[in-house]
Amino acid sequence: MQLGNDFQGKKCARCRGEIHNDPAFEDALWYHRACLEQGKKALQRANEIAARFGFPPHYPANSWRLPP
Ligand SMILES: [Zn+2]
Repeated sequence: MQLGNDFQGKKCARCRGEIHNDPAFEDALWYHRACLEQGKKALQRANEIAARFGFPPHYPANSWRLPP
C-alpha cells in the first residue's frame, strides 16, 4: 500500500511520538511500524496466555483476584 506523505505530523497511537518515517496505518490509526509490530506481538501473547488458562481474550486484568 502506498502511504504517500499523509503521515507527516501524525502521532503514533501506541507511543504518542510524532511519526517522521516508517509509518504504518491500521484500524484508522497511525503507528510507527516498529510500534505496531510490538503491539501485535504483545496482543497475540496476551491472547495466547488467556487461551491457555481458559479465559476469553480481553478478560479484565484484575478478575483473577479473590474478593477481599
Ligand atoms: Zn510509536
